[in-house]
Amino acid sequence: MYQSFKKAFQNLFKKPQTIDYPASPIEKPQGSRGLIEYGESECIYCLKCEKACPPQAILFVHTDTPSDNEKNKKSLKYNYNPHLCIYCGECVRACPKPQEALWQSEKKPWIGVKEDRVNDEWFEIEKLKKETP
Ligand code: SF4
Ligand code: SF4
Repeated sequence: MYQSFKKAFQNLFKKPQTIDYPASPIEKPQGSRGLIEYGESECIYCLKCEKACPPQAILFVHTDTPSDNEKNKKSLKYNYNPHLCIYCGECVRACPKPQEALWQSEKKPWIGVKEDRVNDEWFEIEKLKKETP
């Protein structure tokens, strides 16, 4: 009993263990994984990253007409949804050109993410992917 009171009293003068997030900056843990970045000029459009991604946060969709799809792989457009991404790094491990075509940056996941209508836009991309796989 005495020990409990002593501990409680001591805790009154200690700093809280919690962080006032997001008001206070947080220290990045060592080896933390950030946003996936894509280097279009180095990509060979093998789609290994898309296949390796567990939540399907990477989708390549054709920008040309479906009839031309087979002939022109470079008409594929890379799409990445940072809200679906679980930052596992499997896509980078699967990529034959890691650090050139695809890499995991140290950027915090929420930086540069367009918040408004992100899901609406992603639904369109998913729909397009189903129509022209
Ligand atoms: S880090 Fe994982 S979840 Fe995110 S895009 Fe790559 S494979 Fe998908
Ligand atoms: S795995 Fe790499 S090279 Fe292949 S499509 Fe993805 S980013 Fe491009």
